[in-house]
Amino acid sequence: MDNQIQELYSLMRNVFSKEPLPIRQFNLSSEDRELVRKYAEEPSNFDGDSYRADTFKAGPIAGFHIGQHTMYIIGQPQAPLPMKLYARALQAMADGKSYTIFLFLNPSKRVFPPKGTKVGPANINGGYCMICQPDTIVVYREEDSLRVLIHELQHAGCCDNQRQPIEAIEAETEAWAELIYAMLLACSTGLKPEAAWRIQSSWATGQNRLLMGTYNVRVPADYAWRYTVGKEAVWRRWGLPLGNPAAPRGSLRLGAPEEKFYKAAGKN
Ligand SMILES: [Zn+2]
Repeated sequence: MDNQIQELYSLMRNVFSKEPLPIRQFNLSSEDRELVRKYAEEPSNFDGDSYRADTFKAGPIAGFHIGQHTMYIIGQPQAPLPMKLYARALQAMADGKSYTIFLFLNPSKRVFPPKGTKVGPANINGGYCMICQPDTIVVYREEDSLRVLIHELQHAGCCDNQRQPIEAIEAETEAWAELIYAMLLACSTGLKPEAAWRIQSSWATGQNRLLMGTYNVRVPADYAWRYTVGKEAVWRRWGLPLGNPAAPRGSLRLGAPEEKFYKAAGKN
């Protein structure tokens, strides 16, 4: 029944049993700075609020090599960044590729809009990339950046079934992303896989009840469906057990907060 949970957990345990990828900061060249500027200033359908450009203007920029991957981090973090978990996600998912990630630490949170308003990209999105191009990953909010990285690694790594409509591709990508996210946190905290999955699925189904009821997110044409109600439909199709819906507290971040996993494991 819950094969995906066990399989992903074993895969992730295997990754955690290996030497972690080395993380090394490097000095930026003028080419690096120009590249980051390009990503900060290019137009985006998702980041219509110029989160990237604002963060870039405020600076600073740091560059890191994580194994064979490159991560540019733009802006000041509000909290310590989960660098070791970014590295484990890359280690689990890279499949021999070299990724480049532009992480803009914009502090804006994802929140439900006022009742009667549609949920759009400003309420829910946090990253994008070019399909099958590993050197184009942009994450533009600090909040939930690990889960967004996992989501974009799938698109950039060419995992999408391109014959499907975009709404179905996104729902499936997000269904995997949150499962991988929960298993990564299970390995990192020492929680059992079922317990980590219960935290994540309760968080998601709680949001979905509110989205379906108050915000009328019902069908693929409703923008938020692909990341929320649509992904739950994918989990149900897979036959995954889902936790009881948790009461959403205004947040529309899709990955349950990391603190919930650490707290459940008695490590806060
Ligand atoms: Zn996507």
